[in-house]
Amino acid sequence: MNGAYWGLTALDLLGKLHAVDVEEVVSWVLQCQHDSGGFGGNIGHDPHVLYTLSAVQVLALFDKLDVLDIEKVASYVAGLQNEDGSFSGDMWGEIDTRFSYISISCLSLLHRLDKINVEKAVNYILSCKNHDGGFGCTPGAESHAGQIFCCVGALAITGSLHHIDKDLLGWWLCERQDNKTGGLNGRPEKLPDVCYSWWALSSLIMIDRVHWINKDKLIKFILDCQDIENRGISDRPDDAVDVYHTYFGVAGLSLLEYPGLKAIDPAYALPVDVVNRIILDR
Ligand SMILES: [Zn+2]
Repeated sequence: MNGAYWGLTALDLLGKLHAVDVEEVVSWVLQCQHDSGGFGGNIGHDPHVLYTLSAVQVLALFDKLDVLDIEKVASYVAGLQNEDGSFSGDMWGEIDTRFSYISISCLSLLHRLDKINVEKAVNYILSCKNHDGGFGCTPGAESHAGQIFCCVGALAITGSLHHIDKDLLGWWLCERQDNKTGGLNGRPEKLPDVCYSWWALSSLIMIDRVHWINKDKLIKFILDCQDIENRGISDRPDDAVDVYHTYFGVAGLSLLEYPGLKAIDPAYALPVDVVNRIILDR
C-alpha cells in the first residue's frame, strides 16, 4: 500500500495519473481493508496505521474518498491514541511520533480530527523535542530528519507551528546539506540520500527556512541520482533505483519548483490541488 502511494503520487506530480486504471486501483485498495476499519499493506495482511494513511492518500488522489465508510476508518485511527496523547501503530502497541503524524494527517483528510484529543497529541509531540531543536521517535530519542518531518507536519496540520524554535531547528536542518554533492542527509555523519530531499526539505519549507540551503545544488544532486537508461531515481548516484526514492526525488524536485511538475503540499505529502479539493470541501 505504501508502494502504491509512492508510485501513484509520483505519477500525479508528473501529470501521468491517467496511466493507471482507477477502478482497478480503488478495488484493490478496498480489498486491503480489515473489519476494524484499518488497512493492511496488501490483501489479507494485518491492518496498521501506516497502510491506512496510504490507502486514504491513494483514494484522495483519485477523488474517491466517498467509497469509504469514513466513520469506520476514523474510529480505527482514533482508537490508536493513548492516554498520554501518543499513538500506537496498530493493536500491538508500538509507539512512535511517525504514528502521531500519520493519524493526524489521516483524520484531517477525513475531516475527523475532532475524534481525538488534539491538545494531548500536540503535547506528546512537543515532549519529543530535543535541545538541538529536532525531534525523535519517543521522548529523549535522537533527532532524525524523518521524525522531524512527522513532528513538524503534525504541528503544521494542527496549527501548532508556533511551538517550534524555527531558527534552532532551521540551523540543524540546513546543516544536513553536503557541501560537495549538494544532497541532504538525515542526521550528522550520514551520507546524503535523495529521500531527505523530502523529509528535511519539506520541514525547512514548513518553518520558512528553505532559503538557508543551496537549492540549485540539491536539484543537481537529485537529477544525478536518475538512472537515465533504465529510469527511476536511487538514494544516491549510481545506486539501484526503487519506487520510494523515485517518489521522494520527484517530490523534492516539486518542492524546489522544478519545471513541469505539479506542486506538492509539504505537510500532507499530496499534490496541492488534491489537498485544496479536500480542504475546500470542509
Ligand atoms: Zn533514503
